[in-house]
Amino acid sequence: MERGLRARCAALITHNTLQQEGADISQSILYTALMGLLLVADKEKEVNLTLGSGQIGLCNVGNTCFLNSMVQCLSHTRTLRDYCLQKKYHQEVSSRRKTELMDAFSEVLSDLWTTDMSTAVHPGNFNTIFKESVPHFIGYSQQDAQEFLRFLLDRLHSEINRTSPQNQPISDLPESKYNKLREDKKAMLMWKHYLEREDSKIVDLFAGQLKSSLRCSSCGHESTTFDVFYDLSLPIPKGNVSGGRVSLKDCLTLFSQVEELKSDNAPMCDRCGKHTDSTKKLTIQRFPKILVLHLNRFSASRFSISKSTATVSFPIHHLDLGDYGTECAGKVLYNLYAICNHCGTVHIGHYTAYCQQERGWFCYNDSRVSPISESQLQSNQAYVLFYEME
Ligand SMILES: [Zn+2]
Repeated sequence: MERGLRARCAALITHNTLQQEGADISQSILYTALMGLLLVADKEKEVNLTLGSGQIGLCNVGNTCFLNSMVQCLSHTRTLRDYCLQKKYHQEVSSRRKTELMDAFSEVLSDLWTTDMSTAVHPGNFNTIFKESVPHFIGYSQQDAQEFLRFLLDRLHSEINRTSPQNQPISDLPESKYNKLREDKKAMLMWKHYLEREDSKIVDLFAGQLKSSLRCSSCGHESTTFDVFYDLSLPIPKGNVSGGRVSLKDCLTLFSQVEELKSDNAPMCDRCGKHTDSTKKLTIQRFPKILVLHLNRFSASRFSISKSTATVSFPIHHLDLGDYGTECAGKVLYNLYAICNHCGTVHIGHYTAYCQQERGWFCYNDSRVSPISESQLQSNQAYVLFYEME
């Protein structure tokens, strides 16, 4: 069976039947990709994990509720969890590579999913190694969970990046040629360039691509840029800062609506050669498998930070993001599986996590774990939402 598949792949490549007209992929890349797929399929078959209930909390080792709640959310990201528990990264990167943080993180996950009856897990070692890796986090009493997540994913990624630093991007196109490409080709090329440098399980799961279109109001010139994101930070509509109710859709609409930029705030127009009044619009060009939505409750003014306590209602099943993608996106559906909550004020607050398991939803409040019904998930404390593509 497997040999038959390999032969079929080889035949497909030789006969060029997979190459669409105008596609700029070489035979060797295609071959590597297909063989890679086969290898992945082989490895997936090996999966045979014996998991515990996952209903184990994390001790607070000194204002670490931000860390505990995010680790629980990541621990319920099944593909990532299984990858860590099987230490698959050892097969993907050189054995000389230092994977200290990844090892410590995987250790915590393996304790959280042990089949032994267990008390709360002590994340001290992981916490210490993380702080050594991100000194910025030392000595802060209240940490932002979202900021922690960004640093953590970034550091884990750099430890398990499958490309080596010596790998210089190969396919650079002269700007004049690039500018003539169709938008979707530009997006594809930028994505390919990104993967030549950054390629890991973290990228596989969390990375998406955002398109930013800028239009000069004075000459009408349009330019686009493509950026990779690991989460989307959504604004909460104003006027609802002190209570009130908005929907996730309201936040997404505000995020993706055309924004007017005054000339002193706008980038330089390529055609006019100066800063002009412009409009800017964000579109999701490429959707990630795991979508992290940050409800940006904290807004900083010149002298203080305030927190919005608006209740943002969000769908648990079948969130459709098609409207925020490119025209040909169609329906793009996601299901919720974890929430990081923040309660309290800017200065004194506490983080908890709600995570979905086979037996329903559970609340992780540091070392305490308790069941929670689906109807209790929505509150004015929801801060970071974790969705998985259907
Ligand atoms: Zn212009």
